[in-house]
Amino acid sequence: MDWHRIRSDFPILDQQVQGHPLVYLDSAATSQKPRTVIQALSHYYERDNSNVHRALHELSARATDAFEVARKKAAHFIGAASENEIIFTRGTTEGINLVANTWGTQNLRQGDVILVTGMEHHSNLVPWQLLAQRTGAVLKHIPVLDDGTLDNEAIDTLLTEQVKLFAFVHISNSLGTINPARELCARAKAVGVVTLVDGAQSAGHMPIDVQDLGCDFFVLSGHKMCGPTGIGVLYGRMALLETMPPWHGGGEMILSVSFETSSYKPPPHRFEAGTPNIAGVIGLAAAIDYLEGIGLENIQRHDHNLANYAVQRMSEVPGIRILGPQSGHRGSLVAFHLDFAHPHDLVEFANSHGIAMRGGHHCTQPLMKRFKVPGTTRASFYFYNTLEEINRLVEVLFAARAFFT
Ligand code: PMP
Repeated sequence: MDWHRIRSDFPILDQQVQGHPLVYLDSAATSQKPRTVIQALSHYYERDNSNVHRALHELSARATDAFEVARKKAAHFIGAASENEIIFTRGTTEGINLVANTWGTQNLRQGDVILVTGMEHHSNLVPWQLLAQRTGAVLKHIPVLDDGTLDNEAIDTLLTEQVKLFAFVHISNSLGTINPARELCARAKAVGVVTLVDGAQSAGHMPIDVQDLGCDFFVLSGHKMCGPTGIGVLYGRMALLETMPPWHGGGEMILSVSFETSSYKPPPHRFEAGTPNIAGVIGLAAAIDYLEGIGLENIQRHDHNLANYAVQRMSEVPGIRILGPQSGHRGSLVAFHLDFAHPHDLVEFANSHGIAMRGGHHCTQPLMKRFKVPGTTRASFYFYNTLEEINRLVEVLFAARAFFT
């Protein structure tokens, strides 16, 4: 693979920041966009912009076609059995809230258990807390071990028939841990528990096959996989989607409406009230084409090499504590703590050398408490990053040590 040529597909990366070549190490927050995605957005607005599903004119037909083709592409991208199992959302957060407010409200009762893990992003935690408050259900979590993996024995104790839903992150955005999603779904299924996998950090980084994973719901955000912001996917198994009531009411989700009552379309349209993010959906389809053009296995391998090289090189910095698995099996991000600098000071220092990183709790406050750190600094990678950029990061960490001590 010619990764240097692939990198040149991303115009934003070719710039100076604070007088240095930009080193973008914040892809776990949002990825950069290749030219083909940017062009798909401007082509749509320049040539095809029109509302979908509602008109018989040429532009609307083009927009509707592109929109529904994108649904098929998204289904293929994650291995769904049918495009009708693909609901377009604003992103991972909205997908989880949709499940909580529809399936959750319909199925959870006083005393039922919602099981999550100790490494969830707030968006896979707060919606379940709200649901628990509304229904009287109880929220429990699987503890995280010192090495950043889940406590396997605790899973056996906690994953009981009292649990109605097990929602867990596929790749942790704060530790880089890759959870064994297939095995966890099988264990949940064995006791009749519905599963939701938060794929915000895994989609676009590795091949995803929801049928092979055996999950009931899977959520992702387009902006973390080369697509635009404000668009994501909720996958739901049709047998579940069919039983779920709508969440948002409005246009496009109804069959008929009177003042007294309404009847609703089948999934996925039942869950897509109002004018959708048409440009976002078209941009997401372009991102899927782009990623599949490179090959998800190739991306996964390259991500993996970058993360391994980063852990190895960053370990050379005295006073560094790297969170998460120290082994090679980790996602393409490294979160760390330096005993000589607060994450915010370090991120500012790195910024003055052209490096973009994130410092803070990364929306995982309970996990920060678990590891007794106020926050961490996170360097996160994608296939457009290079080993030279990691060398540059390590140089800057050494420079920070000299500066802060
Ligand atoms: N889950 C994980 C693991 C994440 O990393 C993120 C984004 N940081 C989210 C959920 C939320 O995604 P979004 O803000 O795109 O809805």
